[in-house]
Amino acid sequence: MIPAEIIEKKRDGKSLKPNEIKWFIDNTINNVIDRSQLSALLMAIYFRGMDDNEMFSMVDAMVSSGEKFNFRGKGNYVADKHSTGGVGDKISFILAPILSSLGIFIPMIAGRGLAFTGGTIDKLDSIPNFQTRLSMKAFTKQVESIGCTIASQSEKICPADKILYSIRDLTGTVPSIPLICSSIMSKKIAEDLDGLVIDLKVGNGTFMKTLEDAKILGSGLKKIGKAFNINTDIVYTNMDQPLGRYAGLRCEILEAVACLVGNGPNDLMEITLELGSKILIQNDITLNTQKATNLMLESIENGSALKKFKEIITSQGGNLDNLLEETIADNATIIKSRGSGYIKSIKTDMVGWALVEIGAGRKKDSDKLDYLAGIEFIKKVGSQVNRGDPIFKIFGNDITRLNKAKEILQNTYSLVGKKVNKKKLIIN
Ligand code: URA
Repeated sequence: MIPAEIIEKKRDGKSLKPNEIKWFIDNTINNVIDRSQLSALLMAIYFRGMDDNEMFSMVDAMVSSGEKFNFRGKGNYVADKHSTGGVGDKISFILAPILSSLGIFIPMIAGRGLAFTGGTIDKLDSIPNFQTRLSMKAFTKQVESIGCTIASQSEKICPADKILYSIRDLTGTVPSIPLICSSIMSKKIAEDLDGLVIDLKVGNGTFMKTLEDAKILGSGLKKIGKAFNINTDIVYTNMDQPLGRYAGLRCEILEAVACLVGNGPNDLMEITLELGSKILIQNDITLNTQKATNLMLESIENGSALKKFKEIITSQGGNLDNLLEETIADNATIIKSRGSGYIKSIKTDMVGWALVEIGAGRKKDSDKLDYLAGIEFIKKVGSQVNRGDPIFKIFGNDITRLNKAKEILQNTYSLVGKKVNKKKLIIN
């Protein structure tokens, strides 16, 4: 086959055949296809889109570019949760141990922060000695022995996705629905899942700003799940303000621990329980949301969920017990309300950029993170405030960076004179 012919075909809006897609991806891995040709194909896909069969072929080609896990034989339901990214989203650290304590295998491959959204792996890296890079053998062994592993994508899992993603990042082709869907789902298929729940975030603190766009993405993800025999539930959740009381790195791990001892904020717990109930119902452990919720709350109350989280952390080299004492950042500063009234809205993406500014995320790949950096949301949308009341507290090790973030945060909230109706968190 000739790469330029495949590119021209897509450029002209025609559908590619499965063998053309497979050939292109295989030869990308083998370095037969030049990166300029890959960029051109990605741009053609960005503008022309892909039909369902092309998208399925892309997923197939990405999965078979690497190795797949195999969790068959132990009899456990194998499931994962994926979030499309937000600010303060630490649900994986709460949900994975809860579900795992209920007998579900959770092989979770997670990512680093992207633009203004936080990354699960960056947060886990804030635990001293915790290993986020595991061999497939170690990853599998841990799932089979304690029920859950949370680690980064290894070189062996969907290597084609790694190459495509890095080129998309450089060529303005990240926001393409078929490319996003195939990228997310290829890694889930390589995890050998029975079930998946996707927290598809909608709002000013995530990539999908409108429900309409989110539904298009959700429909693509669901179709791939169906085509590859994974029970896939999509839950649309509001991300018009940060989730929970903290956003940052280690502070989010500690907030997850608070949730696992029963002291979690309502917004975090509401979404966690909704996502978890989808997996428990898929698996026929329970038949309805109320029973599923009760089971999960029980695992918190009887301590088994926290025990499981500690087990996961210890098994990957970390230790949760000393974390609290090691978590005080050198500096902190408060953002006070400049007026009185009710908080109407928070520009959540700007809060995310403030987090990047203080070192809880990266502006470029080589940036070093400040694991103790974070923001506490003392007031949230709907809160009543008086002039001078603290709204946010920012903390971290670099005072110059905290001051820059302070300037950003001062312009992230708006006040109104009358009570504000809160938006529903779960949109479905
Ligand atoms: N997350 C992924 O894994 N891939 C994308 O393309 C976007 C988000």
